Amino acid sequence: CGIVGYAGARPALSIVLDGLRRLEYRGYDSAGVAVVAEGELLTEKKAGKLANLEKALAERSSADDDVVPGIGAGTTGIGHTRWATHGGPTDRNAHPHKATDGRVAVIHNGIIENFAKLRAELEADGVEFTSDTDTECAAHLLAGELARLRAAGEPDGPALLATAMRQVCQRLEGAFTLLAVDAAIPGAVVGARRNSPLVVGRGVGENYLASDVSAFIEHTREAVELGQDQVVLITADDIEITDFTGAPATGKDFHIDWDA
Ligand code: GLU
Repeated sequence: CGIVGYAGARPALSIVLDGLRRLEYRGYDSAGVAVVAEGELLTEKKAGKLANLEKALAERSSADDDVVPGIGAGTTGIGHTRWATHGGPTDRNAHPHKATDGRVAVIHNGIIENFAKLRAELEADGVEFTSDTDTECAAHLLAGELARLRAAGEPDGPALLATAMRQVCQRLEGAFTLLAVDAAIPGAVVGARRNSPLVVGRGVGENYLASDVSAFIEHTREAVELGQDQVVLITADDIEITDFTGAPATGKDFHIDWDA
């Protein structure tokens, strides 16, 4: 229902949580975050209000103080508020959904219409699902694409994440805004959209992604609205937009001039 992403130099967790708070008005039944810190993927997700997620994060951060890195340390992150369509509003169905490798995390707004077929194919390949959502298949497909590209000798890095996301999008039907991170590619968040909104917030040394500009309006007023069937890759200093085939594309630049 609500989506936020951040790539920059500041701690991502608090920026993502603030963004989710600003999207609360849309209604939701669960919330979750994924942060990449020093090459580790750290996630937390809870059914219920953001307060439940924040409580879980607070309990964990006192426990996390002993481990390096803690979830508060990462400067790349994504966050989600869920309005369940497939699978009840439980902790395990909350987003982010992780791939089996534990390094890739995906959040999703919308409905992946052909998820049952994709899930059956993945399960036939031995993938074990840990939720009842339509979303989880996107996490496994993305991790599979990344592994395939790496095995084919493609250079690792942000561009690989975008390439893999484009491949996945070509297999999905329905309505989706997707954001994903790979702990092996720190500093990058990839997003994609079809029949569901996604905007980029252009910062200085940091960039944002969100389902709605209100998520990042306190940080920047320079935004880019993505077009249909586009993929966007953000890092601290770059915003790169393509269509699902990889051809360079442009979104619609605009300035947010209303008061938040
Ligand atoms: N269809 C997905 C789910 O049920 C995403 C729902 C949403 O847009 O929040 O988990």
